Amino acid sequence: MNQTIDAQRALHHQLILLEIVERLSVNATLAEGLAVLPDLVRQAVQADGVCLVIDSGRDRLYSAGADDVAEKAFHQNKAMLLAAVAQGEWLDTAVEGAWATLGSLGLARLVAVPIRDERKSNGLLVIGYTSAYTLDEVDKIFLKIVARQLSTGLRSAQIRDRLMAILNHSTDPIIVIDQAGLIALANPAAEQALKLPVDASVIGQRVEDVIHSEPLLALLQSTSNEKPDKPSEWQSETGQTFIVLVASLAGNTPTSSGRVLIMRDVTRFKQLHANHTDFVDTILHDLRSPLTYMQGYANMLPMVGELTAKQRDFADKITTGITQMTDLVEKSLDAGRLDPETGYYQLNREFCDLAKVASDVVATHQQSAEKKGLKLDAQIDPNLPLLNLDVMLVKRALNNLVDNAVKYTPGGGTITVSAFTKDETVVLSVHDTGLGISPENQRHLFERFRRVHRTEHQRVKGSGLGLFVVKNVAQRHSGDAWVESVEQVGSTFSMSIPIAGANLPGIAGKSTSG
Ligand code: ADP
Repeated sequence: MNQTIDAQRALHHQLILLEIVERLSVNATLAEGLAVLPDLVRQAVQADGVCLVIDSGRDRLYSAGADDVAEKAFHQNKAMLLAAVAQGEWLDTAVEGAWATLGSLGLARLVAVPIRDERKSNGLLVIGYTSAYTLDEVDKIFLKIVARQLSTGLRSAQIRDRLMAILNHSTDPIIVIDQAGLIALANPAAEQALKLPVDASVIGQRVEDVIHSEPLLALLQSTSNEKPDKPSEWQSETGQTFIVLVASLAGNTPTSSGRVLIMRDVTRFKQLHANHTDFVDTILHDLRSPLTYMQGYANMLPMVGELTAKQRDFADKITTGITQMTDLVEKSLDAGRLDPETGYYQLNREFCDLAKVASDVVATHQQSAEKKGLKLDAQIDPNLPLLNLDVMLVKRALNNLVDNAVKYTPGGGTITVSAFTKDETVVLSVHDTGLGISPENQRHLFERFRRVHRTEHQRVKGSGLGLFVVKNVAQRHSGDAWVESVEQVGSTFSMSIPIAGANLPGIAGKSTSG
C-alpha cells in the first residue's frame, strides 16, 4: 500500500516538475514562472507556506500559502538563512532544532533549500509546515531538482536580459529574421529607423509586409554570403544614412537559423566628411589664383632686367615649385569632384573630336619631352567617331598619362600616344619604353594616393592622384582604364570610351548628365 502511495506521489512530483521546467524554460514568461512556482512546490511537498527568494542584489520574493508564513519566517530569520545557503547547505529545523521565533508564526518546521550554480548562491526556497511533516527522500529529490532547474532558468534569463539590454540600447538598428522569412526580433533603433510599430506586433510577421524599402529587402533576401566590395548604404525617409550589413545565422535548429540585418548610422560621419571636403575644396580653389599670378611674375622676372646665372637658377626653381603646387591643386580638385562616393561633379558633355584632343595633348608635351631627350610620337586614327564627352576631363586624363610617361621614362626613350577604335570603343593609349612596373604594383596603381617608390624615380615629384583621376574619368564615361607593363621594357596605359549610350552625339546632344 505504502509503495503504491509513494509511486503516486513520485508521479505527482514529476508532473509538477514538468510544469515548473516548462514555465522556467520559456524565457519571455520567466517572471510568471517564478510567481507560480511557490504554489506548485507547496502542493508537491504538502507545505503550508513556501517562499522563493531570488537574490539579485535586492531580494525578490514570491510566496504562497496562508498569511505568507514562509515569507514572514524568512524575514525573521534572514541572516541565519542566508548564511546557511551561502555555504550551499540545507537548513532544516527538524534537524537543527526548532527556533523560538517560528512558534509565533504557528510554524512547527522550516526547511531552506539553497538555489545556486557552480559559482554562487542565487537565492533560496523557504518551506514552512504548521505540523511536523516528514519530508522524505522523494520530496528532497524533488526540491533538489527544482533548485537546479531554477538556477539554470535564472542564468539563461540573466544572459537573455543582458543581450536584450544591449539590443535595446544599441543605436544601431538590428532585425533578426528566421528561416521562414518571419521577423524574430527588431530592436527599438530598428523600429525608429524603419518606422515600425513600437508594440512588438511585427514579431512573427513576414519581412516584406513590414519593411517597405526595396533595396533593404533585396539585401535581406540575397542568398550570397560573400562580403560585398563596398558596404551597402541606405538612406531612411528621415534622411539618415546607414551602412547595412546582412549576415546568416547558422543556428542548430530551424528557428535559431536565419538572417540578421545590422545597420550602422553614419549620418554624422557623412556630414563631417562633407564639411571636411567643402573645407579642402575651398582652400584648393583659393590657392589657384595666387599660384597663377606667382607663376606669371616668376615667368616675367627675366623680362624686367638681366638676371645673373644664380638668379636665373633661383627663378627656375621657383617656377618648378609653383608648377608642382598647381599640378597638385588641380589633381586634388579633379580627384575630389570625381570621387565615386562623395564627388558631386556632373559631366559637361559636348561634341568631342578625340583625334584633336590627342594631338593637342601631344603638342603640349613636345617641349618637355624633347628637353628630357625623349621621342614623343602620335599614331592617331583619322577616322575616329565624334563623341559626346566631357572634353575638359578627357583631355586632363590623357594629359596625366602623357605627363607620367614623360616623368617616368629615362632620357633616350620613346613615347607613343595612340588613338584607335576597338570593339565599339575608342581607346586612347600611351606607350613608353621606360622602366616598367611590377605586376604587384600594377594592381593598385589606379587607387588614390598610390605611388611606386623606386630609386630611379626619387627626384620625380607627384601626388599619386593622376591615375585615380584617369580611371574615374573613363568610368564616368562608362569606360575603363588599365595598364600593361613589363619591367625593364616599358608600359602602356590605356583608357577606353564606349561608342554607345550617352557618349553618342545623337542621343544626348550637349548635356550635363553623367
Ligand atoms: P603621380 O605620378 O603623381 O605619383 P599617378 O597616379 O599619376 O601619380 O601615378 C601613380 C604611380 O604610378 C606613379 O607614382 C608611378 O610610380 C607610377 N607610374 C605612372 N605612370 C608610369 C609610367 N609611365 N611608367 C612607370 N611608372 C609609372
